[in-house]
Amino acid sequence: MDKPFTQPPTLIGQTLEELESLAISLGSEEFRGRQLFDWIYSKQIDDYQKMSNLSIAFRERLTDFSIHPLKLVNKDISNSKKTQKYLFALQDGKMIESVLMMDGKRITVCLSTQVGCAVDCDFCATAKMGFVQNLTIGEILDQFLQLQKISTRRITNIVFMGMGEPFLNYENTIEAAHLLHHPKGINMGAWRITISTSGITRNIDRFTKEGHSYKLAVSLNASNEQQRLKTMPITKTNPFLGLINASKNYTLRSRKKITFEYVMLSNINDDTKDAKVLIHLLGSIDCKLNIIPYNEIDGSYKRPNDERIDNFLSVLEKAPFPVTIRWSKGQGIDAGCGQLATKTG
Ligand code: SF4
Repeated sequence: MDKPFTQPPTLIGQTLEELESLAISLGSEEFRGRQLFDWIYSKQIDDYQKMSNLSIAFRERLTDFSIHPLKLVNKDISNSKKTQKYLFALQDGKMIESVLMMDGKRITVCLSTQVGCAVDCDFCATAKMGFVQNLTIGEILDQFLQLQKISTRRITNIVFMGMGEPFLNYENTIEAAHLLHHPKGINMGAWRITISTSGITRNIDRFTKEGHSYKLAVSLNASNEQQRLKTMPITKTNPFLGLINASKNYTLRSRKKITFEYVMLSNINDDTKDAKVLIHLLGSIDCKLNIIPYNEIDGSYKRPNDERIDNFLSVLEKAPFPVTIRWSKGQGIDAGCGQLATKTG
């Protein structure tokens, strides 16, 4: 029987140690792997001919390997030009999306970690695709590297908040964050990297235990168990209070703030009573609450009207924790929170 064709691994996604081993396996010295790491991640050069300190023989042997696991297929820029959505093809032809957002000096890239998503939040466009597959470390990382090349300014922040649930592709997400943070490579500060989860409690606990220095955000989106069950079925296996406790435990053990994201849905979770419950529930946690008025997709959910948003926010003025509101800049191109979905995934 014919063996299925497997692509050789691409260089983006390989760790320093893996590139050192690769150099040795290609008949070169170990330090050539370190030089390669520097070219790919620190200098961000993707042309072997420009890697001038590598021997010609080594460069020739490297040409058997592709550098990029992703191919840019399309881009969509919002009218304000502040949000840009990029469509990438994986080597097997499946598609993912990433978003670049400009906000003053802050340039943020929103990375996907899976093709589709298994979590099935009722208000989310990605959920409609179902789960297709996990992204490799290289596929996660290459979104950053390709967008950094396109961006005229240096990317300052990274959020794992695109398609997929990062904590259901835990190892690859964490390894990609390590490579983004590596001081000899991309060297992005850990406090500039945020991993956002829909609330996979066991992996919040794992993240806490492993003591990572990246920031953690939880999509809460409800003020109680029953309400959350209606829009986020993941609550069945990750109960609401367990999620709150895991989040609190993270802040106590890590001594870091956690961010709760709260997508406001009209007549679902936007009552002033919900705001009061949130104050009570989160009041003893070192947290920030980020309110996101819903970005409508083709579905039954609606964004609350301005009056309801204002009333909700005025109750939250009494909260002992900071509250921010995030108005999406990418709505016109379906690049707002919960709007990423590829038609060809
Ligand atoms: S909101 Fe996030 S976790 Fe929920 S289905 Fe969409 S991509 Fe998955």
